[in-house]
Amino acid sequence: MRVVIVGGGVMGCATALELANRGVRDIVVLERAVPGAEASSAAAGMLAAQIESRDEAELAKFVAARDAYGPWAAALREVTGIDIAHRRSGVLALARTEHDLGRLKRDVDAQVGSGLRAELVDGARARSIEPELCEGLAGAAYYPDDAQVDPPQLLRALVVAASKAGVVIRGGTTVASLVSEGGRCVGVALAPREIMRADAVILAAGSWSSLVPGVPDDMPRVRPVRGQLVLLEERPPRTSTIVFEGHSYVVPRGDGRVICGSTMEDVGHRREVTAAGVHAILGAALAVMPRLGEAEVVRSWCNFRPSVTSATGAPLVGQSPLPGLFLATGHHRNGILLAKVTADAVADAILR
Ligand SMILES: Cc1cc2nc3c(=O)[nH]c(=O)nc-3n(C[C@H](O)[C@H](O)[C@H](O)COP(=O)(O)OP(=O)(O)OC[C@H]3O[C@@H](n4cnc5c(N)ncnc54)[C@H](O)[C@@H]3O)c2cc1C
Repeated sequence: MRVVIVGGGVMGCATALELANRGVRDIVVLERAVPGAEASSAAAGMLAAQIESRDEAELAKFVAARDAYGPWAAALREVTGIDIAHRRSGVLALARTEHDLGRLKRDVDAQVGSGLRAELVDGARARSIEPELCEGLAGAAYYPDDAQVDPPQLLRALVVAASKAGVVIRGGTTVASLVSEGGRCVGVALAPREIMRADAVILAAGSWSSLVPGVPDDMPRVRPVRGQLVLLEERPPRTSTIVFEGHSYVVPRGDGRVICGSTMEDVGHRREVTAAGVHAILGAALAVMPRLGEAEVVRSWCNFRPSVTSATGAPLVGQSPLPGLFLATGHHRNGILLAKVTADAVADAILR
């Protein structure tokens, strides 16, 4: 069986590895740049299941995805020797006002009711968990089991593991279009005369997925939502817990690197870090952890979350409306979190 995968981000590489581990022998990942060139290496790497989920069903799915990471990280390290820096650093979601704390209390009560670890804490207890926090908080929700990984390391591990398992990863190869015959996707075109035939094609082109010619019209579209990030370095490291306030977050790697994010911008694929973006990100980060003001600014970057324009915004995973075409795209803010469970679901759909 030949499987061709369009896109070498976390979705394409994780799905290729999963299929190879299940015995599929002829798998090709086609990546127009290099594997992990885009959102997947740009992400902050949070596995923030308990804070990102919007309802009970999503919570259960996100928690399962987060909890799959421990064994996955261990398996990747065993095969590749690469440490993806999986760390259960916990998440604190901050409340400045009693009103915000009331909202967090409802979330915490619901999650405790679902059997998850979650705690509503006052400002003093929040600062005992993360001593670098500012004064004057009404309190916080604490989710000790939420975690993080280092996305560039994850992509390196996936590429090495997939290559060792026999997957062919072709960088510098743009898919010009999907090729369909008789109502079935039968491969991809790399150039007008170069067609690569396949028993199954997987669309994993991230925020460019709807731009690949030949994608069925009756599928929800995937659009880019730009996010900017700023990397700081603290010497010596002081912070250790992921902190959220609204859409702003601070992600300490535990080794002095601190990732501050992010923006949510509807600007197409404009690849720009803006003055306003950096101003807002650093303003929010320093407001919750004032001593980050002493940290060195190392670099800033942006990339594009693949976001689905449907009523639910749910990712597109599994069989598409076109036979022969499978989907692993549209994971918006949570593609790192959902990579392993998506790879499992797509492999299930193809090998059914
Ligand atoms: C600023 C920011 C912070 C984030 N933080 C987190 C986080 O903390 N936790 C989390 O879980 N998620 C996070 N995300 C979301 C996560 O990064 C994405 O959901 C995920 O990486 C999407 O993976 P992907 O493989 O679908 O897309 P991508 O990584 O974008 O990969 C798609 C690949 O397809 C290639 N491609 C496109 N078109 C073609 C073509 N025609 N032919 C060949 N190749 C093509 C591209 O070059 C690209 O490499 C963040 C995203 C951003 C932008």
